[in-house]
Amino acid sequence: MKNTTPLVALLLLCASCSPNEKLAPIGAGGADRSDAGAAPDASEGDLFAQLPEIAPTATGQRGAAATVDLRGTLAAIEVLKRGGNAVDAAVAAAGVLGVTDPFSCGIGGGGFMLIYLADGDEVIALDHRETAPSRLEARLYYEDGAPVAFDELVTSGLSVGVPGTVRGWSDALRRYGTLGLGDVLQRAIQVAEAGFDVDETFFDQTQRNLSRFQAITSTKALFLGPDAKPWPVGTVFKNPDLAATYRLIAEGGERAFYEGQVAAAIVAAVKEPPVEPGSALDVRAGVLELSDLRDYETRVRPALSTTYRDYTIYGVGLPSSGGIAVAQALNLLEAYDMATLTPVEVHHRYLGASRLAFADRGAFLGDPEFVDAPVKGLLSKDYADSRRALIDLAAAPSAAAAPGDPYAFQSDPSPAPGSARAAKGGSAGPNDADDNETTHITVSDAAGNIVSYTCTIEYEGGNGVVVPGHGFLLNNELTDFTIPPDPSAPHPNVAEPGKRPRSSMSPTIVLKDGEPALALGSPGGSTIITTVLQILVYHIDLGLPIDEALSAPRLSQRNSGDGSTDAETAFLSAPEAEGLASLGHALSDAATLGGEIGAATALRFHGDGTVTAVAEPVRRHGGSAMVEQPR
Ligand code: GLU
Repeated sequence: MKNTTPLVALLLLCASCSPNEKLAPIGAGGADRSDAGAAPDASEGDLFAQLPEIAPTATGQRGAAATVDLRGTLAAIEVLKRGGNAVDAAVAAAGVLGVTDPFSCGIGGGGFMLIYLADGDEVIALDHRETAPSRLEARLYYEDGAPVAFDELVTSGLSVGVPGTVRGWSDALRRYGTLGLGDVLQRAIQVAEAGFDVDETFFDQTQRNLSRFQAITSTKALFLGPDAKPWPVGTVFKNPDLAATYRLIAEGGERAFYEGQVAAAIVAAVKEPPVEPGSALDVRAGVLELSDLRDYETRVRPALSTTYRDYTIYGVGLPSSGGIAVAQALNLLEAYDMATLTPVEVHHRYLGASRLAFADRGAFLGDPEFVDAPVKGLLSKDYADSRRALIDLAAAPSAAAAPGDPYAFQSDPSPAPGSARAAKGGSAGPNDADDNETTHITVSDAAGNIVSYTCTIEYEGGNGVVVPGHGFLLNNELTDFTIPPDPSAPHPNVAEPGKRPRSSMSPTIVLKDGEPALALGSPGGSTIITTVLQILVYHIDLGLPIDEALSAPRLSQRNSGDGSTDAETAFLSAPEAEGLASLGHALSDAATLGGEIGAATALRFHGDGTVTAVAEPVRRHGGSAMVEQPR
């Protein structure tokens, strides 16, 4: 998200503006900006008083941060300069993104935070995934014996999972941070109160959601102008309700969100969505109770890991399929001497490995508290060896791959067929969304701690319902459950009370010889997995610098029924496209996914105390990377 306006100028110009009053756009550039990636030193005062120019790459020393948004990244750098650690900084960034990137993430959603603690050399996965309410049963997703259409579930109370973000932030800070929630939320409160200029990303996201935002009273009042149209680019957008909600949390802690007036407002918005009188939109009510919010718990889980050549790759495990699928694909690729292959051969293998990983993902993976997924077998190198021959080196597939038998590669037995914990199911199903929202934050600090954090409200704009009086959108994360056409068909990812829907989020941290080498992640629904995999292959195997690995055109193979692969338009004109076509690959233009696959951020640690932070240069109109001490 590009910023073009120093906040101080807006504050002066808008001292008497009412919330979200339109200002004439202020031009970019200006001699008063600091250099690309160069955040002013804390001793110079308020870092936000004079916003630096946005830059997608920055190299230097001490801490580093990359997010989709200038203010998000700056909030992280500000905390680092004040002496906070990477966890403090990641939460500060996420708080600001909840204000400036409200259609991708926020306190109405959840996420997965992967934390590397330099002291102790430990990697921890903090799961604060949204959870099905206690009264949510799979049968609610069927009407007249048929699944409710995915689009209809998106904008509904039935798709709202118990939000995990606030408890996730609170637990992360309490266990691994140095500052409190009240402290790290201050910048987000200030940005929500003072406002920020609507940029192209914010405008586009509102425009794409226009009809449903117009149909929800509270959403229309906040995110649309008096003409019920998106706020134009250049408008100073303020969110005093969100500032007040953050203030409640800052003062009262997580209980101010999970109990009391905020919790009551969330439950009311789910049970009686505030639909505009006369609207034709059918917004189904959900079944969330106050007790679901009160009882929500995060999970601290061991990080999942695999080795890939000289590297150890850490990811998050179930209920995200991300770390497992990335690891499985890497295990398949490891046997190829990629450096000696042609670019077409490399891409052919990358697609083949991803296809096989997705075949198993669709069949076996679900919330580990509900199903015995064969994770050990899936991650075994022997299992990869047994599956690799299914990648035909001479021709592209024309059909989906069947899942394998990972149980044969682990000592844990397969659950009895038909038992409640049996984990084998069918394919992912049509509701395995590929939308391109969510956001990824990567932060490190001078002590060597790293946070790789993907957070989301699922769809762009979540379920479309702003919690009245509180300024944030609710998630529609429960659309990540699988809804088989036959309601009696078993699947590890069907909805159950208290279950977490399977995710694709893949926050990743890579070590080499025990030292940090890389941290990365991306949004993009199930394409998250292929984006992370492609960046790893490009950087580790092809030797592309991390910024080039991240900005290169992407393609995504997710075991499609006809073997076809989604490709960004830029890839279709790349030299490899022709070679892949001659092997029989059908590349579909990802214009159907909104034209872009992912919006990644990464940190590359060079081993000499320097670090390069990288965000997208073009996707989502470009992200922001900064280091604490530019070189
Ligand atoms: N709900 C998705 C997941 O958990 C993330 C949404 C997105 O990235 O678009 O996998």
